[in-house]
Amino acid sequence: MDRSNHSNSTNSSSNLSHHNDRDDRSHRGNHGDPSDRRNRRGRSDRTTRITVIGGGLAGLTAAITAAESGVTVTLYEAHHTLGGRARTAEGPYLTNEGPHALYSRGPHWAWLRRRGLLGSMASPPAREAARFRFHRGGALRRTPPLGVFRLARRPAQQAPVDTDFMTWVSALAGPDTARAAAHFAAVALFHDDPGSLSAAFVQERLRRAAALPPEARYPVGGWGQLTDRMAGHAWNLGVRIETAVRIDSLDALPEHGPVIVATSLFAARRLLRDDGLRWTGGRTALLDLAVRARAGDPFIVSDLDAPGWLERFTAQDPSLAPGGHELLQGQFPVGPGQSAADGVARAERLLDLGFPGWRGRTVWRRESLATGRTGAVDRPGTTWRDRPRIDRGDGVYLAGDEVAAPGVLSEVSFNSGIAAASLALQRLEQRRPERPGQEQRGRERQRPEQRRPEQQKPERPGPEQPGPEQQGPEEQKGVGPAGLDLKHA
Ligand SMILES: Cc1cc2nc3c(=O)[nH]c(=O)nc-3n(C[C@H](O)[C@H](O)[C@H](O)COP(=O)(O)OP(=O)(O)OC[C@H]3O[C@@H](n4cnc5c(N)ncnc54)[C@H](O)[C@@H]3O)c2cc1C
Repeated sequence: MDRSNHSNSTNSSSNLSHHNDRDDRSHRGNHGDPSDRRNRRGRSDRTTRITVIGGGLAGLTAAITAAESGVTVTLYEAHHTLGGRARTAEGPYLTNEGPHALYSRGPHWAWLRRRGLLGSMASPPAREAARFRFHRGGALRRTPPLGVFRLARRPAQQAPVDTDFMTWVSALAGPDTARAAAHFAAVALFHDDPGSLSAAFVQERLRRAAALPPEARYPVGGWGQLTDRMAGHAWNLGVRIETAVRIDSLDALPEHGPVIVATSLFAARRLLRDDGLRWTGGRTALLDLAVRARAGDPFIVSDLDAPGWLERFTAQDPSLAPGGHELLQGQFPVGPGQSAADGVARAERLLDLGFPGWRGRTVWRRESLATGRTGAVDRPGTTWRDRPRIDRGDGVYLAGDEVAAPGVLSEVSFNSGIAAASLALQRLEQRRPERPGQEQRGRERQRPEQRRPEQQKPERPGPEQPGPEQQGPEEQKGVGPAGLDLKHA
């Protein structure tokens, strides 16, 4: 797919800024002669257009879902490449923004698979299981406290929403197990005090992070491969993709019709000028290292004394680093009063324990601090339903990983992208004048996930109906696509 011979369309509005100093590219659908496409766009009814702002996982999911139903979709992305936080750095070390694993039992998995977008996914190799280490009591051990894995078998719906995880587990299994379990679950939380969060929220993440066989999968070549496949699919569906275009106001959009704001919540707050768009997120120090390989290095070191995780990513995907080098990625959550250096210091202590000679073997290193970039966390008394709702009124919808949709980490982006597109399509359908004989033919063409909730047939496992394993307690009550109560969203 050669996208380089397309140039951005120009727009003089000051609220729609093009970043032409970068590698600007406009990606248009692979539908033959561009002039045909212009004609079709020119002819099309204004009410069959959907605009998506943001080209990360949420925006790409929303654009694909909308385009599959035949409407015209334009996607604007501020950066010169798509993918958002799921971008992969260019070589020689193919790093994601921090450690990233795709959980295979979420509804997004079936959504991606049905479209042939999963591609090549690496699993943790069985031989590496013996190289899992747990840091507890100041030393590295081969086994975790048994109580943690006993606890991880409990379904999340047994955990209360209103109580914090530490209090709930301490009463069940004692404070040591509670602390170790909370710190283990931090791999999917990125929060410095996971025990203080809602017990139901943490338990769902503990259960999925400790699942056997492991749920974690890794797109071979990095997450950028996955977003490239999604972008290619969107392109082939005819989505008009404009990169290096930052939208600063919805008034500046040249298109009419529903708008899906698929940016971070922080960016959506500014774009929609809505100070209420806030939710709690994690704050974590990230350390990426490339080291010369040494036989016997651990695969994973999970810190149970404090939240922290170190993983040798080349164990499951050697293509991430040149031969003879290993790529290590770690995340070490830090509290409000702490700096990235505090997290990195903890990472280095684990490296000293687990990776002999790592300092002398280091060939590349990167440190950063991720604040509010790792998805939503729910405090006691709150669930995903309390987060900023998807439907903002007036044909504006939110998608992203901190909005009112279920799932773990990026699954919230996928689920909210599908829900936002479904709501936008419903709005178009409500406004479209119906012509006799057309309605039934149109519906016959729809894929299941494009049907309105009342049209859905139960289908498991799939994006619309997560199986019990994928459901948190509140998801069990879900009635709509992706387990979402769209009325609530
Ligand atoms: C360190 C780290 C580790 C993680 N680990 C995991 C993991 O193991 N598993 C997992 O599932 N998830 C993980 N995540 C979370 C996952 O990366 C995110 O949930 C997901 O990438 C968010 O996608 P999104 O599309 O919602 O948002 P984003 O990726 O932020 O995409 C939003 C896009 O909107 C664009 N944009 C913003 N403002 C504008 C504007 N005004 N106009 C036009 N475009 C705009 C941005 O440039 C961006 O490309 C991790 C995240 C981090 C930071």
